[in-house]
Amino acid sequence: MAGSGAFRDRGAHIVLSPASVDEVRALLRELAPDARGHGAIPVQPCSTGLNWGFGADQPADDGAVLMHLGGLAAIRDLDLDHGIAVVEPGVSQQALAQRLEGSPYLLNVTASSSRTSVVGNALDRGVGLHRQRTHDVLGLEVVLADGTVVHVGRWPGPHIAPAPYAHQVGPGLTDLFVQSGLGVVTAAAVRLIPRPQTHRVVRLAFAAAAMCVQCVLHAAQQLAARLGLRERQLGCEHVECHHHRVT
Ligand SMILES: Cc1cc2nc3c(=O)[nH]c(=O)nc-3n(C[C@H](O)[C@H](O)[C@H](O)COP(=O)(O)OP(=O)(O)OC[C@H]3O[C@@H](n4cnc5c(N)ncnc54)[C@H](O)[C@@H]3O)c2cc1C
Repeated sequence: MAGSGAFRDRGAHIVLSPASVDEVRALLRELAPDARGHGAIPVQPCSTGLNWGFGADQPADDGAVLMHLGGLAAIRDLDLDHGIAVVEPGVSQQALAQRLEGSPYLLNVTASSSRTSVVGNALDRGVGLHRQRTHDVLGLEVVLADGTVVHVGRWPGPHIAPAPYAHQVGPGLTDLFVQSGLGVVTAAAVRLIPRPQTHRVVRLAFAAAAMCVQCVLHAAQQLAARLGLRERQLGCEHVECHHHRVT
């Protein structure tokens, strides 16, 4: 356990590393309050624990039990017809991206380490290179404090057809378990991104802003001509050239 960022170090009572959903359930039952509601022990779950800059795997406060879920590392399902992966918390961006190589889908990766968790990042409202990671989450499998397992959101299964749209009809419970600590997430169904046929990066360097504006105007004029549109329809006739220097 190691902190990072500007936060003070917080101590944990103990670090638990379950290796299956059943072990998560049994541990949570042990740590739950008694029938009179006494003796509850706070549990801080983390997936790969690489939340660098925000405290890494440290609990939010002193004295919690830290539950590391890196041992649950299965890609349970990869539905390449609908672009959905069902992954456990220990599945890293690298592991899922490698499984998708040569497939019609990509993972919405972040700019953090390849060893970080797909699930952990989404649960902490991470930011992917294509969109917010919470937008990838279709459904969650969650173990509640009493050891009960629930599925929330659009959990793919025999009775719920997979859908590219994350929301169901009516109120959704998925957000209850995002940045909340109300349960331990043991799997997530995440939407993948269709792999584009080609991907090209054009890098242009301009000595001055004026050159950049002229170049964009010229490109817009050519595009308008090719599409048979008037420049007005592309909105490029109002572009003004301000002579700011690009630094
Ligand atoms: C150079 C650099 C670049 C970075 N770039 C990005 C970036 O582009 N986008 C971005 O989002 N972040 C970025 N980060 C921040 C961070 O590294 C990532 O967000 C990383 O994915 C978080 O660590 P993790 O995946 O191991 O999540 P974890 O540390 O495992 O989890 C994060 C938090 O989510 C909750 N949680 C995790 N798992 C569970 C679970 N199973 N059940 C219930 N709650 C859970 C807990 O509150 C936990 O503390 C960057 C950091 C650095 C240093």
